[in-house]
Amino acid sequence: MTPHDSSTPPDVRLSVLDTGLIECADFALFSPNAGPAVRRDMSVRSYLVVHPRGTLVWDTGIADAIADLPDGQRIAEPIVFKVPRTLRSQLDELGVDPGTVDYLGLSHLHVDHVGNLDLFPNATVLLQEAEYAAGFGPDAEALTLIPETYAALNRDHVRAISGDHDLFGDGTVVLTALPGHTPGHQGLLVTLPDAGPILLATDIAYSAEDYAVSAVRPSNTDLEASRRSLEKAHALERERGATVWLHHDRAAQAAVRTAPSFYR
Ligand SMILES: [Zn+2]
Repeated sequence: MTPHDSSTPPDVRLSVLDTGLIECADFALFSPNAGPAVRRDMSVRSYLVVHPRGTLVWDTGIADAIADLPDGQRIAEPIVFKVPRTLRSQLDELGVDPGTVDYLGLSHLHVDHVGNLDLFPNATVLLQEAEYAAGFGPDAEALTLIPETYAALNRDHVRAISGDHDLFGDGTVVLTALPGHTPGHQGLLVTLPDAGPILLATDIAYSAEDYAVSAVRPSNTDLEASRRSLEKAHALERERGATVWLHHDRAAQAAVRTAPSFYR
């Protein structure tokens, strides 16, 4: 949108939902530049995009059921999942009935992104074709995907996307392929009337420091694709003025306003 454009931009709003906390006693699992036994807790996010032509939830966070466990759930020796606030309660506060959500976009199929799939029985699920093929193919576990963690996904509702996809046809909400972390990892580029373009870059990097130097996590499924995806995000920043949000960087996310506040 240039100052000379006379058309009115669609009224798009983005709400940031806090959908978990990952307590990590060994950040080197996620960051190639972390030293040994560095403790670093990570934020988990979901997002609600309200567009005149539909409502989209992006990622579903850690399962709300974990909110009932006072000490959270240890999912690996150095990793504990906690849910201080449920996704359900945050949607309730916003007056959003999950049954009316039109689209559920999934960045990828890792457990901390697919925890509440069953909340959205009527949504069209937007997944990259490569993620769908990996997640339901014979090599899922070798590709770091654990089918039992996304067993609630209604495969009849999946719309498989290949590459970038302009959801509403007006450039405001664009699924943005960022493969490498998993075979079909993707981000969401939301262009807001006032805040401008924001790239929900999800797991292309786990810290602003790693993102700044395009450091690739060694256990990603495709290291070369990961490098290209980091470069793609940097190019969106440089050329489009996009703000890049790294989902799990808790320190950086502290500056992001969560619901009921919203960005527009
Ligand atoms: Zn993640």
